[in-house]
Amino acid sequence: MDKMVISEEELTHRLAAFEEKCRRRGLRVTNQRREIFKTVAVSRQHPSAETVFLAVRQKMPRISLDTVYRTLASLEKMDLLIRVGTPEKERFDGDLRPHAHFICTRCAEVYDIFPSEFSYKNPTSLSCGNIKHVNVQFKGICKRCQS
Ligand SMILES: [Zn+2]
Ligand SMILES: [Zn+2]
Repeated sequence: MDKMVISEEELTHRLAAFEEKCRRRGLRVTNQRREIFKTVAVSRQHPSAETVFLAVRQKMPRISLDTVYRTLASLEKMDLLIRVGTPEKERFDGDLRPHAHFICTRCAEVYDIFPSEFSYKNPTSLSCGNIKHVNVQFKGICKRCQS
């Protein structure tokens, strides 16, 4: 199995959450919206809006980059995906489990770091409020760039 995509089971689960959230907000589950979400949700590579656009365009040749941007922003607002990376290299992540990111300052690759790799207790609330999602970023030079 390709390590850069998630399992069929996990994807089914994420798509169900997506449809349920759209329904609850009275948003139509259009093919376009579903395809954009799916492209982010299936990938472990934290695709950029441009990458999502190029992938979706294969199936939907009439889609515009602007539509992809707007849809990604609305999916983020619905807490279906999160924005990671840096302002110059924005990337999107459909994995909503609490995890941190390591961003390589040389190649801009975004790596997932799960709490098992560093000490982090996954609190659900802090003194200043309840936690909706976690966005911890480490920056450095990745192993691939080091070698
Ligand atoms: Zn790198
Ligand atoms: Zn991630």
